[in-house]
Amino acid sequence: MKVGLIRCLQTEDMCPATTCFKVMNLKKLAFAGIKEDIEVFGVNTCGGCPGKKAVTRSAEMVRRGADTIVLASCITKGNPIGFACPHAAQMKAAIEREVGETIRMIDYTH
Ligand code: SF4
Repeated sequence: MKVGLIRCLQTEDMCPATTCFKVMNLKKLAFAGIKEDIEVFGVNTCGGCPGKKAVTRSAEMVRRGADTIVLASCITKGNPIGFACPHAAQMKAAIEREVGETIRMIDYTH
């Protein structure tokens, strides 16, 4: 699995994505049951509210070889402060439209 990780720009100040990388390395939570090796191809933010840049940034990671776009839990679950992105569903749908059905999407990390 070649992962392109999208995270919340607002969360960058308080989170270095430690747990996102840990669960990928250990194949836990969102990555439980993944048989293949997990390689992070790129990490980028949504670009800031309302997250439109997540779409083009995801497409660029796919162009560079990612086969899976992962939305970090800061977006969909609001980790680490319990404040989820109000645009998460729209962001996910727009990314899916842009990158197409052959690209796997995972909508949380932990
Ligand atoms: S759009 Fe959502 S994910 Fe992006 S900075 Fe704003 S709250 Fe965070």
